[in-house]
Amino acid sequence: MIDVQLKAPLAGWSLPLAAVPDPVFAEGMMGPGLAIDPTGDTLHAPCDGEVLTLHAARHAITLGVGAGVALLMHIGIDTVALAGRGFEPLVAPGDQVRAGDPLIRFDLDAVVLGAASAVTPMIVVEGEGVTLVDAVVDGPVAVGDALVRLVSAGVAASAIATAGETVRHDTIVLLPHGLHARPAARIVAAVRASGAEVTLHAGDRSASAASPIGLLALGLAQGTAVTLEARGGAARQVIAEIEALLTAEVDAAPAAAPAAPRIVQREIEPGAIAGVPAAPGLAVGPAFWLRMETPDVPTSGDGCEIERDRLAAGFAAVDARLDTAAATPGQLGGVLTAHRAILADPDLRARADAGIAAGLSAAAAVLAAAETQGAALRASGNARIVERADDIRDVALRVVHAILGTEPAALSVPAGVIVLADDLLPSQLAGLAAARVGGFAVMRGGPTSHVAILAAGMGVPMVVALGEAIRPLADGTMLVLDADSGTLIADPAEARLATARETIATRATAEAAALAAGNRPAAMADGLPIGVYANLGSVADAEAAAAAGAEGCGLLRTEFLFLDRATAPSVDEQAAEYRGVVAGLPDRPVVIRLLDVGGDKPAPYLAIPAEENPALGVRGIRVALARPEVLDAQLRAILSVPDVARCRIMVPMVASVDEMIAVRGALDALRGELGIGPVPLGAMIETPAAAATADLIAGHADFLSIGSNDLTQYVLAMDRGNPALAAGIDGLHPAVLRLIEMTCRGAATRGVPVSVCGGLAADPLAAPILIGLGVRTLSVPPARIPSTKALVAALTLAATERLAAAALAAASAAEVRALARRFAEDTDR
Ligand code: PEP
Ligand code: MG
Repeated sequence: MIDVQLKAPLAGWSLPLAAVPDPVFAEGMMGPGLAIDPTGDTLHAPCDGEVLTLHAARHAITLGVGAGVALLMHIGIDTVALAGRGFEPLVAPGDQVRAGDPLIRFDLDAVVLGAASAVTPMIVVEGEGVTLVDAVVDGPVAVGDALVRLVSAGVAASAIATAGETVRHDTIVLLPHGLHARPAARIVAAVRASGAEVTLHAGDRSASAASPIGLLALGLAQGTAVTLEARGGAARQVIAEIEALLTAEVDAAPAAAPAAPRIVQREIEPGAIAGVPAAPGLAVGPAFWLRMETPDVPTSGDGCEIERDRLAAGFAAVDARLDTAAATPGQLGGVLTAHRAILADPDLRARADAGIAAGLSAAAAVLAAAETQGAALRASGNARIVERADDIRDVALRVVHAILGTEPAALSVPAGVIVLADDLLPSQLAGLAAARVGGFAVMRGGPTSHVAILAAGMGVPMVVALGEAIRPLADGTMLVLDADSGTLIADPAEARLATARETIATRATAEAAALAAGNRPAAMADGLPIGVYANLGSVADAEAAAAAGAEGCGLLRTEFLFLDRATAPSVDEQAAEYRGVVAGLPDRPVVIRLLDVGGDKPAPYLAIPAEENPALGVRGIRVALARPEVLDAQLRAILSVPDVARCRIMVPMVASVDEMIAVRGALDALRGELGIGPVPLGAMIETPAAAATADLIAGHADFLSIGSNDLTQYVLAMDRGNPALAAGIDGLHPAVLRLIEMTCRGAATRGVPVSVCGGLAADPLAAPILIGLGVRTLSVPPARIPSTKALVAALTLAATERLAAAALAAASAAEVRALARRFAEDTDR
């Protein structure tokens, strides 16, 4: 057992390991730890110990700190290439050192200029069951400041013996994206059902297979060799099940976030701080820092027995509360259910137990356990997994309050402020639901985190991942938060403030007017009707769209209805969902898109073989045509909707007329069998091939709908999911507009209507151009319906046609956007 306080070995800025710009360190492959971005030039001993090794290139040193625990300190990244230049060791292997003793002096300038990075990781490279506690990260440190505690408990959950034989089996992870959340959850379910105690070993790291977080923290990539060890229960059978899950060639990768089309263009206005949009909207207000409440927790306990009882009581109390609260309707209920699952994770409990065994109080032990789990998740490098770290801390704080018999301090936040936070916990956001907050600007976080989902549900704009740039902003600083572009402007000029306020007022008026207009169809100022439809991914979306005045559904992403399925949804299950969506939009047309999986939208229940280039592989309609039973089941489900007369069927990723002919054949045969009349069939125009042959495709389609997200990625040859290309992948690129124009022209030869259901339809700069090119229906997220209707009402066809002609002649997307901005200003005047 060990409990050692490590002091900062360097002056600088402390960082979590995940921030180290080298995956070997950042992903925890060498062990747990943290890092310092140095401002000082001398590495010091973080605690007493013995120098074990000093690298020949003099940039890295290991220190034995007792109880078999060894620390590696590695000055900079790729500094081995400096071959010792600029490094002066002050100790030698075998030397005993005291905390604070200088170890290596180095030329900081030479490291900064000559190496990939000066960030210096400090890693626990040896030591069983060592936990990092009380880490001080993301802040300035001086040499000798308390940085982190090393605690090894010596009691692991796996030490509990289970009767029966022990079975060991070696295998290799074949999952294309490695072991991530969904297959991990399935492994946990299999293990729990088996009654066996199962441990996964990968190299020198192990995790209980009953712990989803323990499994994720192993960070098993494709190709990693693992050993499965099972004892008791149905050991052999569960090993076979786990092996099947690890070696599946189809990856149950995290699915794309539903109903949130990517914003394909980011323009950062000068002086703005750039983050990532998490919940849409625009807000103006004074800054208000939300300081993370950390309860005063006693470090040492009153003895193992007492603290274990406290821990058990705390877990039980929170479980009971979450059990009741999880019945809350809507997204909050879903989040609380997820929190209950985190509470049930045996790894969290085992780590907390181990902390108590090491002398911590129950409250300190649960916080330390959450910190360790969170650090492991952050080190995974997978954004979605990293986001779950906040949920773990939230759950741990609930347990701490239950143990201490305290309640979290009620958050008192003035109405209308823009809340700034280092990070936000879901429970804090839920507590703010009634506060009428203007917006959220968060240093960390991710766009698919639970807090982002909750903020969108509350209708409050949120920008995440704004980073350190917002730290200096004082309470009361005037801010403009643009959560559509993902930016924050501090101390804006009066004129900028006035524009933002005007936009907010205009949007509010437009929304009120559109809501008041109810289901009145949208029309341009000269009377030309333009359909404003909604893109949907769930029954709840349909209800929101109806309330917002959608004239129909222009795109039901059916793949989003069955994201997490291990088995294909039956005809009845599909039919129930389609019925719900159609009923949610009474009397209005509903375009149901056939399953669009493959590419960036995996469907775990369809064994689509791994592909080298999935965006150009078996995706969209290619999947359905390769598996007639999938197409048959979906068509049957759609045709069974009682109100099928309001349904239209849309074919994704069409590249040739043959595909439309094949689907039409299958549909007509089924209609004949079931005795159902005509159901309109449309084609999505998402490939350059479909746009270029729109006249031919229109010969076999009742309508065309442009999927501008995919069309843009294929026309520009830019992966729509690649953040490095996000600034360049703009649907207003003249090349994309010329193909949209070609589509409208081709469709017009057959009298077939054209809509746009990709993200471009919801872009206020793009919508007038699309109308000018011939598009007559815009299908947008439900929240955009009122503003899109208001925008359309201010336009005339002649003006949009002039704008479209100018856009087609422009040389770049930036030029098109400049034209569209001038047009918007003229229209507003
Ligand atoms: C599109 O590609 O624009 C589209 C609407 O389809 P999805 O975003 O679902 O691929
Ligand atoms: Mg698409």
